[in-house]
Amino acid sequence: SPELRTRTFVDGTWHEGSPALIGPKSHAMWLGSTVFDGARWFDGVAPDLDRHSQRVNRSAEALGLKPTVAAEEIEALAREGLNGFSGETAVYIRPMYWAEGGGYMGVPADPETTRFCLCLYETPMIEPAGFSITVSPFRRPTPETMPTLAKAGCLYPNNGRAIMEAKKRGFDNALVLDMIGNVAETGTSNIFFVKDGVVYTPVPNGCFLNGITRQRVIGLLREAGREVVEKSLSVADFMDADEIFSTGNHSKVVPVQRIEGREMQPGPVYREAREAYMAFAKKAG
Ligand code: PMP
Repeated sequence: SPELRTRTFVDGTWHEGSPALIGPKSHAMWLGSTVFDGARWFDGVAPDLDRHSQRVNRSAEALGLKPTVAAEEIEALAREGLNGFSGETAVYIRPMYWAEGGGYMGVPADPETTRFCLCLYETPMIEPAGFSITVSPFRRPTPETMPTLAKAGCLYPNNGRAIMEAKKRGFDNALVLDMIGNVAETGTSNIFFVKDGVVYTPVPNGCFLNGITRQRVIGLLREAGREVVEKSLSVADFMDADEIFSTGNHSKVVPVQRIEGREMQPGPVYREAREAYMAFAKKAG
């Protein structure tokens, strides 16, 4: 297979590959002050790139960092960088901010030392046909305990251990609950189910990411006349579903094929959601 290419924009120039950017004294390295976002370019389109560019700046602000690059500029940089790719593979678009210094042993990040990079890297065009989920013993933190609405690196080790535990049990991903015990999201995506033709998804309560793909899919389904209900949902609600699917920038809309011991098939509403998303993506460019 051809080698997958990476390009990184940092300090005003494009670099081939993935340059080393932080050292042992970087605040980001020892205290985790990083935020990022992810959009994906495939078949010549990068849907909702503007929203992903806006969100990384909001994430930076949520951590007390200084977003130094305007969202429109991030979008323009991404489009400039994408010109260097063949289009034969998908390209992941990852803008990031981090704090370089916090002063001598300083716990608070010094916002004046915020740095930015934009990494574009080819990923195989493979789309998962579906995945399995098990209820995670690890939960989402509350907004009072962590910057839950930011796409911050510091939140992801918790998602990571939820997924590691799921894999140990023989599942692909975890269904993660919030502190009250309602379903929040998976380790990597937002989650929906279908019952009697109605689509249900957890109502954003500050404990999980209100994903850009989630909002897009809800809008498209409603435009198509489908009822979508956002409310607090339990594991039992999901166990009783006709269909379950997830949304996220990487794989867009993907069906769940097993929840705990229960096998399920990709259903008609999943296909409707995926087709509506792909049609939108084509038009959006
Ligand atoms: N939740 C988590 C934990 C995620 O990592 C992602 C992927 N960014 C999502 C939800 C979906 O968000 P989006 O649709 O904005 O990619």
